[in-house]
Amino acid sequence: MIAEDKINEIREAARISEFISSHVELRRAGRSLKGLCPFHEEKTPSFSVNDDGGFYHCFGCGEGGNVFKFIMALEGLSFPEAVRKVADRCGIELPEERGSAGGPVRKDLFALLDSVAGYYRRVLLETPAGESWLEYLAARGINEKSSDSFMLGAAPDSGAGLLRWLKQQGADLEQAQSLGLVTRRQGRTVDSFRSRLMFPLRDNQGRVVGFAGRKGETAEGPKYINSVESSVYHKGRVLYGLDLARTAVRDKGFALLVEGYTDVIALHQVGMENVVATCGTALTAEQVKLLKRFSSEMITLFDGDEAGSRAAGRSFPVFMEAGVWARGLSLPADADPDSFVRERGVEALAELLGGAGPLVDIWLRQLTGQAADTASMARAASDLSSLLKKVQDPFEYDLLLRKASVWTGISEKVLRGQAAPTPQKRAARGAESLGGAAGLDELLVTLLLSDPSLAASVAEAGALDRMENGPFRQVASDLLQASSRADAADQLAALPSDLGARVAQRLNEGVYSDTNVARRALGDCLSGLERRQRKAINRERLLELKRAEESGSDIAAISGMGDWKSSRMSDGE
Ligand SMILES: [Zn+2]
Repeated sequence: MIAEDKINEIREAARISEFISSHVELRRAGRSLKGLCPFHEEKTPSFSVNDDGGFYHCFGCGEGGNVFKFIMALEGLSFPEAVRKVADRCGIELPEERGSAGGPVRKDLFALLDSVAGYYRRVLLETPAGESWLEYLAARGINEKSSDSFMLGAAPDSGAGLLRWLKQQGADLEQAQSLGLVTRRQGRTVDSFRSRLMFPLRDNQGRVVGFAGRKGETAEGPKYINSVESSVYHKGRVLYGLDLARTAVRDKGFALLVEGYTDVIALHQVGMENVVATCGTALTAEQVKLLKRFSSEMITLFDGDEAGSRAAGRSFPVFMEAGVWARGLSLPADADPDSFVRERGVEALAELLGGAGPLVDIWLRQLTGQAADTASMARAASDLSSLLKKVQDPFEYDLLLRKASVWTGISEKVLRGQAAPTPQKRAARGAESLGGAAGLDELLVTLLLSDPSLAASVAEAGALDRMENGPFRQVASDLLQASSRADAADQLAALPSDLGARVAQRLNEGVYSDTNVARRALGDCLSGLERRQRKAINRERLLELKRAEESGSDIAAISGMGDWKSSRMSDGE
């Protein structure tokens, strides 16, 4: 038996299109991918795959499900086998399988890195070499709990301490060298890190993949050095702190990007856990895409100096490439996130974050210089257009274009003219063919499926009681009770097939994948539900009055009957 938590983790980690595309040729169509259905004969594609929601759905034959169901059907595997297959591909270890198939070498590397992190940790805590670093951490206000959860350590001064320890353990030195733990220097093997405070770098599953080392005040060399890239460490694909931040990023609906390792730790320590940092490199589109799996809202926080703002501006095209419209915030001069929360507190930072503006502003300001004259704005418009052209997804393109226009004041037409429309634009339109606008109950379910973070607001508004009795209400109720991100495929299957198809279509269109749009739609939906209930109560009351009139009973006795009637409303209509 594989624990349900584990199954959910695997399902969430999997990119469903990766598994389907080995059987079906998929082409991008808006938010989703399309191909010829493997479950029925067809000539035009009606089979869609939605990576955000983790489901596939065929609009031709109605077949649909999640990644496991697909693999079971197409590859004839049992459920546990399908789960195992997906887990393997995502690098998630299943308890029963330790040490058996599935890349033993990789596992050995992770185990070695983990034990080395333990070694550095003991050097920090138990040897004289760690003493000055413990003082340093105390001076920076980093407490033991934080030091422990980030597995901070210290590299000994001798330059051979790790090597000696590895030999004692009987470790494979070639492996250690391939991971950049030790290195050959003038014909001798030596430690790669020496007299440094060690920050283990972990992937988003919490496995140590490399290290960053900070030098002591008096030592020589660069302030930070990082592990060399290896078969498990690719610096452009790792975000420091993501393993600890991922839940908070999802819950809070946005991620905060900072520059330093200690900034991440300091913010975590004061309860702001949705924070990550790049690992000693400029931000990459791959990192943004990784983060996007947890939220598409990002705020980059940069130091209040010239260099900080330049770096923030430079990161804008990277966010664009990943299809993320990030916001940016500059700290007051001379402050970094760590010092800021220490001096002013986390509430002050939270307040500051509320005022984060679009990053494009900073980028534009740098592009146009101080004077935004016509010529420089024209240049900016053309630069912005060429960035927009890189956006593959036509829906994302539209959304970005609209925001670009609002935020820059450059008309949509001009931007559109500069940025040639992408070839398959609007290819995926067709929701209309499935009939009519969504009703309020359908909209609510669609919103909950596209953005699970809305569940709290829905519950708080008591919207469930205002829904009509029926499949949508049942699904909404399940979604509100779900402890982890719900399996969209399950919920779609619980709806009658035509309704499920319609919701799947809307999720594919990704209309509500922008948090702000989703929030606004939710607001409209909730007030719509309230209005509908009020109307129904009034109608019922009128009816009651009419009946009373007809039967000649006392009208005064019936006023104020709204309460018990409203409790019955959910059965009505
Ligand atoms: Zn089909």
